[in-house]
Amino acid sequence: EAAINRIAAGEVLERPASAVKELVENAIDAGATRIEVVIADGGKTLIRVTDDGCGISAEDLPLALSRHATSKIDGSDLLNINSFGFRGEALPSLGAVGRLRITSRVSGADAACINVAGGQVSAVKPAALTTGTVVELRDIFYATPARLKFLRTDRAEAQAIGDVVKRLAMAEPFISFILRDATGGDSRVVFRTDAETGDLFDALHGRLRRVLGKDFAENALAIDMERDGFHLTGYAALPTYSRGAAIAQFLFVNGRPVRDKMLLGALRAAYMDVLSRDRHPVAALFVTCDPTLVDVNVHPAKAEVRFREPGVVRGLIVSGLRHALADAGH
Ligand code: ADP
Ligand code: MG
Repeated sequence: EAAINRIAAGEVLERPASAVKELVENAIDAGATRIEVVIADGGKTLIRVTDDGCGISAEDLPLALSRHATSKIDGSDLLNINSFGFRGEALPSLGAVGRLRITSRVSGADAACINVAGGQVSAVKPAALTTGTVVELRDIFYATPARLKFLRTDRAEAQAIGDVVKRLAMAEPFISFILRDATGGDSRVVFRTDAETGDLFDALHGRLRRVLGKDFAENALAIDMERDGFHLTGYAALPTYSRGAAIAQFLFVNGRPVRDKMLLGALRAAYMDVLSRDRHPVAALFVTCDPTLVDVNVHPAKAEVRFREPGVVRGLIVSGLRHALADAGH
């Protein structure tokens, strides 16, 4: 089982940012309203995610670490996947590649913790915690030096973690996020955003303003369209607005950040006539649909998705954005 976990780990976890993504998604799934991420040395020596979600009971702690033990699927419902996690692979994989400690408390019970290193799971011990879960991963990839060697500089890895946290923060405007860098002992806030209020559209606008900046928020067209069971919402920037960074396309499918080629292609196609070739469109778009219309199980890292009807989704994005741009005089 330890060997299997290491292999699975290689698929799910490419770098510290992948671990952060899995842990923050778990916190979101647990119903957290506040999520804190602390990293050190680009996440290579420390990643700690603290949430105020439902917690894991002492009995369930060892279970959470066994492969394919997920509380989020019951087998009868394989296509109907709404929560982020559904593979039950993240925690066992993390326990195979680093020193993992989970401390958790469900309401009405005492807190407990469990440790894993090199795939060896400790006994469950009593712990102190007011609420929720703290997952701490130290020395990621210490057991797989080959992978450690392929990591980029601490700075680049920290940047990738920041991107992951920001993307998830965009998708969850009602959750407050804080990312701290504790390299060298003192902790510095890298990114923080309070929970937004209002309806989803307002909250999203507020959150995008927070993450992408005031300029984006003031130059963005609201998108809200529906076709054949697919709903497209979000904000797309006017072609006159430009960002320094090339990566300015934020795409979400059923609340999950994705980096899907088809969706990116559709976004580019929508802007083709209004944006010069050397510029990149900026948008945060959310596609929602019945879970049976999309397969999110294409890759374990879950960045790519497969729609049952890609043509419909592509058409929705291209025509939806073109109409919005045309209405705004572009
Ligand atoms: P998955 O998310 O695919 O179910 P994971 O390995 O990421 O698999 O997590 C295993 C299980 O551990 C989850 O199904 C969930 O029951 C529990 N779990 C993990 N993280 C948390 C958390 N932060 N709060 C509450 N429960 C958690
Ligand atoms: Mg998970």
